[in-house]
Amino acid sequence: MLVTKEISKIRAERWREPGKTWGFVPTMGMLHEGHLSLVKRALQENDGCIVSIFVNPAQFNNSTDFSNYPKDLEKDLSLLENLGVEMVFTPDKEVIYPANFSSKISLEGLAGKLEGAARPGHFDGVTTVVGKFFNITQPHKAYFGQKDAQQLLIIKKMVRDLNFNVEVIRCPTFREENGLAMSSRNTLLTPEQKEKAAILYQSLQLAKEMIAAGERETAKVIDAMTELINREGMAQVDYISINDRETLEEFPTLQGKILISLAVFFDQVRLIDNVIHQIE
Ligand code: AMP
Repeated sequence: MLVTKEISKIRAERWREPGKTWGFVPTMGMLHEGHLSLVKRALQENDGCIVSIFVNPAQFNNSTDFSNYPKDLEKDLSLLENLGVEMVFTPDKEVIYPANFSSKISLEGLAGKLEGAARPGHFDGVTTVVGKFFNITQPHKAYFGQKDAQQLLIIKKMVRDLNFNVEVIRCPTFREENGLAMSSRNTLLTPEQKEKAAILYQSLQLAKEMIAAGERETAKVIDAMTELINREGMAQVDYISINDRETLEEFPTLQGKILISLAVFFDQVRLIDNVIHQIE
């Protein structure tokens, strides 16, 4: 397995056999089964797999969140080696953002909603770094998790708008037994918080049940979810939102394909989750 911080080494290996197909999985490390499900799929669907591990400062709007972000490169590399990954790109931030770096990929519309509204500038950081990684690795397919639903929509739109020659593949959210979506940030929770964080998924399930039983008023569903989470005591809701799954538009009356999403704090740790649902 080639592990390198250098763009030129990734490029050389990527093009050594020009006929070979490549899958790419961008990550911020501290890998868990959710990440590995993307990597396994990339390995199945391509001749080779490239994984990047880079905690991207440009997508953090909070410097404590950035400095507290968990890391374990040695463990990550051994997990990837065991799966048979060919290349791991682990650049330093000076390689990605050299002195005088001044470009930005910024999507209007989608990037200002939900996570973009809660974390200003977040998606500009994401699209800029993913655009750079696409140019560096030039993969045939790139794999993203539904866990970050808005990120996935935005990357797909960026690829369409800017003609990146890559197919974006959506992968389902991988969960703990209690329903908690796997996340690198879960390692920052106490065991008690981790147990209680199952409330996020339970509230998403409650929303689906209410809608299946005929509820169509967005506000009522959100109120019931908020109340359930607040009853937990340890959790603080940042936002709960129900939107059109593609445009992320909000509507007072529920209809069509919807994305039910939320962000919740346990102390300083901010967790996100979502489900998609089709209203008949
Ligand atoms: P991150 O390291 O958090 O930036 O995530 C890297 C990629 O893994 C992103 O495409 C995420 O959406 C995806 N991912 C993170 N957690 C999960 C999960 N629980 N299930 C599926 N994909 C995930």
